[in-house]
Amino acid sequence: MLKVFYSKNQSVGANASFSPSAGKPEHVVKSWKERRQAFEICEFEPVTREDLKLIHEPSYVDGVLDLTRSNGFGNKSPEVAAALPWVAGSMVAATLTALKNKTVTISPTSGAHHAHYRNGGGFCTFNFLILAALKAHEEGAKKVGIIDLDCHYGDGTQDIINTLKLDFIQHYTFGGDPLIHKDPALWLKKLPDVVSTFSDCDLIIYNAGVDSHVDDPLGGYLTTEQIQERDSIVLNPMRKKFIPIVMSLAGGYQKDASGNIPKVLELHGFVFNAAWFAEKMNNEEEELVYE
Ligand SMILES: [Zn+2]
Repeated sequence: MLKVFYSKNQSVGANASFSPSAGKPEHVVKSWKERRQAFEICEFEPVTREDLKLIHEPSYVDGVLDLTRSNGFGNKSPEVAAALPWVAGSMVAATLTALKNKTVTISPTSGAHHAHYRNGGGFCTFNFLILAALKAHEEGAKKVGIIDLDCHYGDGTQDIINTLKLDFIQHYTFGGDPLIHKDPALWLKKLPDVVSTFSDCDLIIYNAGVDSHVDDPLGGYLTTEQIQERDSIVLNPMRKKFIPIVMSLAGGYQKDASGNIPKVLELHGFVFNAAWFAEKMNNEEEELVYE
């Protein structure tokens, strides 16, 4: 059964930001429960300050957690500071479980890939994608792939890879691919070629952002159907090779007139659905088929 690493401690209801991501875990998990596709909510521990200092400058970590420096949302919210170790904890636990069980897991987290070694920004405070990769490496994953299909360039991820010389990580970021700006349909057609370059990885971290949807106010490019196709293109070949995959949510900013996020929840629902079916695949003959 698909494991989802969720704790109410990782979700912040009231955060002063255009981004809904701090409060998204609670809403996303609630919407997944309404899908009638059984999954298991798994408990986990928050990461420590020392964990975060493995991937960020120590003074930045202390500054954010002690409320003397702004977080990635540009505020000094104590609620956000309290939630951040749980956000990263969800991702690390989901990653290590995927690696150990050679399966697909989900961490309903957002807000990592713009977090640089020395600073946050763009609604991202701590780069839990990198922390998860590092922890997986410590547990024996020789090569870790980060496939980041959030609409925006994963500048923070690349900065930490470069700063700490993490040469065991292979990083692809949608926002850094010039083809997407020219021809989204052609980009999708060529996505299998990109994914195939990750086939020798021991673990895939798939940052399945939905701000790449064509109607997103901060993103654009892909239709709803293309986003669904995107997820199966990433997941299918990896599952056929039994390569562990951990999925996170990343961006998505469409709101209705009341400020709610039904379209974002719908799109994250497709991501959940793709993971749910991928988790069920247990032999090489199976294809990921949507119902
Ligand atoms: Zn984004």
